[in-house]
Amino acid sequence: MALLEIIEFPDPRLRNKAATIERVDDELRALIDDMFETMYDAPGIGLAATQVNVHRRFMVIDVSEDKSEPRVFINPEILTREGKQVCQEGCLSVPGIYADVTRAERIRVRAQDRNGEAYEIDADGLLAVCIQHEMDHLDGKLFVDYLSPLKRQMVKKKLDKQRRVAAA
Ligand code: ZN
Repeated sequence: MALLEIIEFPDPRLRNKAATIERVDDELRALIDDMFETMYDAPGIGLAATQVNVHRRFMVIDVSEDKSEPRVFINPEILTREGKQVCQEGCLSVPGIYADVTRAERIRVRAQDRNGEAYEIDADGLLAVCIQHEMDHLDGKLFVDYLSPLKRQMVKKKLDKQRRVAAA
């Protein structure tokens, strides 16, 4: 297993639209293992392939406190959405920035697991937020896109400043 590099906003590679996965094989499973390791190390609760510069439709999620609920979503699709919730979100590709985003409260999702088996899951609360956030990544979308242009500009400036401090 290996830690992968997480690319950060405003890297244009975060805007790529990921391609559908035709075959779930050992190479993909190895990548999934590396993504879990990278996510837990960060630490984070979700990581989309786009964030490690792999432009294929899959993501890993674990919203538990003790790394006990690893979930793999390959070719995820949202079948139904209900309600609304506002949650403060962060992102491993936008480090140190948190902002309120409105998402569906309950969703039903269809995906494939690490063996390529199709499954469906009903999610609400944090898991539902996380799934919607990670699926956005696969479409080249970031949570800061939901902010006003002015706020997004402030996020860019703050990140630039953080990077200058880190480099100094
Ligand atoms: Zn993210």
